[in-house]
Amino acid sequence: MNENNICKNCRHFRQHYIKHGLSYRELWYGHCVYPRLKKRETAAKACEHYKERENAE
Ligand code: SF4
Repeated sequence: MNENNICKNCRHFRQHYIKHGLSYRELWYGHCVYPRLKKRETAAKACEHYKERENAE
């Protein structure tokens, strides 16, 4: 596991958005679906269940 990984780059993370006019903006948090649903900040340090997304930045 890479210590620099954050939830944003994990395939279990679902980013939350806010509607802004006609577009959507990323919020500073979302939720994690594994192993159970929980709220997580986008920049939170990755846990032991981290799995890199294919399109990770
Ligand atoms: S809490 Fe762990 S499993 Fe969930 S999104 Fe973050 S790194 Fe991935």
